Amino acid sequence: MAAPHDDCIFCKIIAGDIPCFKLLEDERVLAFMDINPFNDGHCLVIPKAHAENLHAAADDDLAACIAAAKRVAGAVERAVAPDGINLVQANGVGAGQSVFHFHIHVFPRRAGDGAMLNWRQEPGDMARIGELADEIRAAMG
Ligand code: 5GP
Ligand code: ZN
Repeated sequence: MAAPHDDCIFCKIIAGDIPCFKLLEDERVLAFMDINPFNDGHCLVIPKAHAENLHAAADDDLAACIAAAKRVAGAVERAVAPDGINLVQANGVGAGQSVFHFHIHVFPRRAGDGAMLNWRQEPGDMARIGELADEIRAAMG
């Protein structure tokens, strides 16, 4: 497993050096409440192995995180009956990442809550979309 990072707040939570409201734990994953919730029930799922972001995380840890997020989201659904749930995951400062240990937000939504996660849906330029698909496929290797 990736070594904990001394300056990583989530590694400190995993180690038990900082308390959390724990929801679920197994050998790969920890889920706990976010202490700055946007809505009631906002929580986080993280791999125990430190990885800065999606690009750095191991596939097995990502798989474990999404399975745990599904389980936690089901419990959030039953516990707080939100109008919907977003799974949110940021990579890099430009995407709004503030803690550099991979995490998935289980983000309950309320109608009209104003969370800035939704963007306008207008038809794109199909030629440009096709070009970008080619570029992304080529980059996938
Ligand atoms: P990001 O901005 O990286 O997508 O999300 C980081 C999240 O971690 C934020 O929602 C923030 O509230 C949460 N967070 C930061 N520090 C702590 C902490 O010490 N404990 C808990 N439970 N959540 C934290
Ligand atoms: Zn960490």
